[in-house]
Formats: sequence, C-alpha cells, structure tokens
Amino acid sequence: MFDANLQQQLRRKLKDVFDYDAFRPGQFEVARSLLQNRDTLVVMPTGAGKSICFQLPALLMSGITLVFSPLISLMKDQVHALVQNGVRAAYINRSLSKKQIDFVEKNAIRGAYQIIYIAPERLALPAFRDLLLQMKISMVVVDEAHCVSQWGHDFRPNYLLIASFCAALPTRPVVCACTATATARVRKDIATLLELQEPFLMIGSFDRKNLYFEVERTEQKLIALRRRLDLYAGRCGIVYCSSRKKVEELYAALEALNYSVTAYHGGMPVETRRRNQEDFLFDRKSIMIATNAFGLGIDKPNVSFVIHFNIPGDMESYYQEAGRAGRDGRNADCILFFKKSDLQIQRYFIDNPVENPSLDHKSKAAIRKMRLEKLQTMVDYVDCGICFRRFILQYFGENAAERCNNCSACIGNRLSVDVTVQAQKVLSCVVRLKDRATPETVVAVLKGDAIVSRQFGSITTFGLMREFAVKEIESLIAFLCESRFLMLKDGCLDSTKSAKEVLFNGRHVRRSVSLNKPENKKCGNNAPQAQPDPVLYHRLKNLLQFIAKKSSLPAFVIFTDKTLQMMAAMQPLNLRDMFRVPGVNARKLDKYGLVFINEIRKYQSEINKSNGKEDT
Ligand code: ADP
Repeated sequence: MFDANLQQQLRRKLKDVFDYDAFRPGQFEVARSLLQNRDTLVVMPTGAGKSICFQLPALLMSGITLVFSPLISLMKDQVHALVQNGVRAAYINRSLSKKQIDFVEKNAIRGAYQIIYIAPERLALPAFRDLLLQMKISMVVVDEAHCVSQWGHDFRPNYLLIASFCAALPTRPVVCACTATATARVRKDIATLLELQEPFLMIGSFDRKNLYFEVERTEQKLIALRRRLDLYAGRCGIVYCSSRKKVEELYAALEALNYSVTAYHGGMPVETRRRNQEDFLFDRKSIMIATNAFGLGIDKPNVSFVIHFNIPGDMESYYQEAGRAGRDGRNADCILFFKKSDLQIQRYFIDNPVENPSLDHKSKAAIRKMRLEKLQTMVDYVDCGICFRRFILQYFGENAAERCNNCSACIGNRLSVDVTVQAQKVLSCVVRLKDRATPETVVAVLKGDAIVSRQFGSITTFGLMREFAVKEIESLIAFLCESRFLMLKDGCLDSTKSAKEVLFNGRHVRRSVSLNKPENKKCGNNAPQAQPDPVLYHRLKNLLQFIAKKSSLPAFVIFTDKTLQMMAAMQPLNLRDMFRVPGVNARKLDKYGLVFINEIRKYQSEINKSNGKEDT
C-alpha cells in the first residue's frame, strides 16, 4: 500500500515537474530506495534516464541535494533545465565569478535551493567545506561515480574526498552513486571508496536493441568514411577520432568536399567549441567530427550514426560514445573502423598519461597494465568472431543471446534480398485458394503437382513456381508467416493486411539470406540462395555495355559478369545494399551505384505494375 501511494505521488511529480508520463525501467526503484534513506548505486547506460532517479526524490526531501559532477561545462545546462521546470537549483564551479559564487552560497545557507551541482575539486578548499557544513544536506549524488576508481577509465582524484566529506556532516546524508559504465571491479571500488552503506544496487540492461554494431577493417579510412557518409546523407551523426590533429585533418578534408561538418576538441577556443556544438545540436550541421571531449551529457536524440574513425582505448569509452546514437529509439548504426596502426596512438596515451602526483611507482605500473588490458579488450572485440552485441554485453557482465541479428557479425555473411516477386506468387496463390489453402496444397499448386491438377489446374498460380524445390517454397511460406504476411488459421493459410500491401500497393518484401556456399548450407540454414533474375540480368548487361562504350572501357573493368549476376539476384535498391554486392567497391559504388540502382528500381516497378494488373 505504502509502495502504491509512493508510486502515485512520485508519478504525479514526474508529470507535474518533468512532464513525463511514466517511469523508465529502474527509475522508480531508485527513487524509492533513496527516499527510504538507503544508499544506492545506479549502473545504467547513457540515455537510460539516471538524472530523474535522484532529481525526483530530491524534490521530496527537506534538505539540499548536492550533486557532484565532473562535467563543469554541462552543469549550467542541467541546472537551467531544472529551473525551467520550476525546481530551485543552482551550481557552483569555476566558471562563475566570485560575486556569483557568494550569491549562490548565501542563498544556499538560507535553504533557497533544492538541488546544487558542484565540481568535486571544490572539496579540496577548506573554506568551502566549512560552508557546506552549515547547510542542511539530505542527499549527496555522485554522478559519473566511476571517476572515483583508478580501475575506471576516467579517474579523478578529487572524487576520493567525497566519502570523508559525507562522514564529516552532522547527519550523514543518503548517498546515490550513478555511472554509465562500471565493470564488477569498478563497481566494488565505487561502493568501497564512497563508503556506501549496504547499497541498493540498480543495474539496468546495457542492451540497446536499436543500435547496429559493425567493425570495418580498412586501410583507406577516408574513402570508407565518405562512402558511409554518402549512405547516411541528410542524417546526423558523430565521427570520433582519437586526437585533436586527426579531428582537424578530417574536418578540413570533409569540409573541402562539401559535407555538412563541424568539429569539436578540447584544444579549440571555448567560443568556437560552443558555436560548433550548437551548430550540431540545432541541426545546422549534420556531422560532428570530434575527440572524446565531445558528447558527455549531450542529449541529442536524433543522432543516427556514430563512427569511430580510430579505435578507442577501452570498451567503456567505446560503448558510451557509440551509445550517443539512437537515443530517440530509432535504428542507428555504430561503426568502428579498424586499422592496426591506430593502436599506436592509444599505446602512446597509455605510456604518457596525465600525471597524477598522488600515485606511487607501483600504482602507476598497475594502472598502465590495466589500460593495456583494456586496449587488448578492444582488439579482442574487433577480432571476436562472435556476435558483437554479445561480446559487449558480456563485458559489462550481462547475459546475452548467442546472436542478435543486428550486428555485422550476425548478418555480415547474410544478404538482404528482394523476394517481392516470389512472395507475390505465394500470397496470390493463398488468396485464390481461400479456405482450401493448407500449406501442402499451396506448395503443390505452386509446384504444379499433377496430383492436384484436376482440382486446381485452372487457378492462375498453378505451376507458377515450378522451377523451385519444394523445400524452397516451404521455406518461403514459413518466412512469410514469420514476417506476418500470412497467418495459419485452423490449418489453413490466410493473407494479412500486409500481404494486401504487397499484392496491390507495391510494398516490397526483403529477406535476409545466407551468403554461405551451397555446400555449407547443411547446418540447418534453409534460406534460399539468391537467384539472378534473368530478365533483369539482361537489362543490367545492356546498361553496362552502354556505359562501357560511352566511357571507352571494357565492360568487365566496370563490373564483371559475376557481379552483374549477383546484382540481378540481390536487386539492391539503395547504396547500402548495392555496396554489399560482391565486386562493388567504394569507388565503383560512387561512380556507378545509382545508375544501376535506378535500373533495378525501374524494372521492379514495371513488374509490380504488371502483377497489380493481373491480380486486380
Ligand atoms: P543518463 O543520465 O542516464 O544518460 P538522462 O538522465 O540524461 O540519461 O536522460 C536521457 C533522456 O531521457 C533525457 O532526454 C531525459 O529527458 C529522458 N528521460 C528520462 N526519464 C524519462 C522518462 N521517465 N520518460 C521520458 N523521458 C525520460
């Protein structure tokens, strides 16, 4: 009952203050735990909504909530957003003038604020600590809590001051530690070093199903990047580089090629950084080229790709940066380019760390070893040979299915093939057979089986798939059922609304098929091999000859016959799929991709028109 009341109360506040209709997974549980005065460790991926976990209970507490955050540049935005929502909030960091700080401090002492954001280095100032002791502090939040651990990827020594500060307060506040990336070791460090008392642990799932993961090994990264950016034309995304120099170079190269780019790194003047960041956030520029200095706390929902131009130093950073894609829940791509020599710069960073004077020689050596191990994990990721998502989730201690079917390891050896025409044949047969459409009858009719010829020989779809093996037709029917074009009702197949779109409204059906050679197909994979469409093949061949003649080149220099056959089988309708056709490289894609795609489109629309006529 108490729970139900609390939930209702919190939900009302969630709506009234933040205008959200429902909790995201874990938010209520964390808020409840904090309101029950229990220390809490929140491990949730970027974008999961950690802020609400502590901001909401903060509003129901009598004293101040102090939020320690390392992200000085973002405090202003966070506080601004809270103030906009009617929350009494402020921040204190070195970006404010002495006069401004005095003003906030005076107000804080008289209890004017519910939430105050503070940079942890302030705790090193005795006068500031004394001042905090005068305030009534109900909760301390440690954002980016992994910064307390030397085993994390972003150690900040000042985080170590937080525990003693909490202990020195007249009444120990409840402590909430939040992080997006914590391995078991770092989690343990957070609990120990922040002196959390029997903490409630909330670990959200790290699985972001809408993200597609791919590793591309390439020596010609600029070409590979351009090809990707062309595929993503009009969409916005981030390209991460490992150094400022690389950001500058890449920005100059892409700018000269008229891409809509901007750039960001820590060495730029503050004003330039601000302007560039806003150009990206407000969609004035669609591509951000940046170092890892860009993105912390950035909540741009429509980032539809994140490309790592260089390999990052650890999985924590990679997943955090890649996770900036698809925050709106739409499908988004996370692509990692791998070139072996890129490891050198990461090794350089490891061998030349930002000096931490408090560390002795032994600790430095241990940290170096740990960083090398983390870098090796990234290499293992590239080479893992298993589902990339599974590798990532396992790294973060989460169980995962063997295959996710949304990463290049799972679908890289598969092709998306247009099977509209075959699907139309099956669907049309089902429609015509009406309540006699058992799967066996549909197969027999399509196959033109003599046994059913007396009964169904006059149906227009009789023998329409004579050249297919029975197994292939069965597999196609199974696929159409799985994809909800067909339903099995009382032992008979029935067409759905989606089927009508395929039959009458030009909807395409694509199917992922294995690229394995027939001899490898035994292992239970009964997907059909892509068959070249002979009519389309001839049309593509004519087009190729025309282009070859015009450019005074032998045709095979442009595309070999094998490539044309694959094209006629796979029938790619966009540049991404065209690039998957063996024999189409980046240069050829650039030069000829669209011409051939247009021809395929034209051919398919003609077929659809003639099928539409036949079926109506
Ligand atoms: P994190 O700190 O975990 O990276 P944030 O707290 O910045 O995530 O939240 C990410 C996004 O999710 C923000 O745009 C936020 O407004 C939104 N959000 C958080 N909680 C909810 C909710 N309950 N309903 C809808 N949107 C939410």
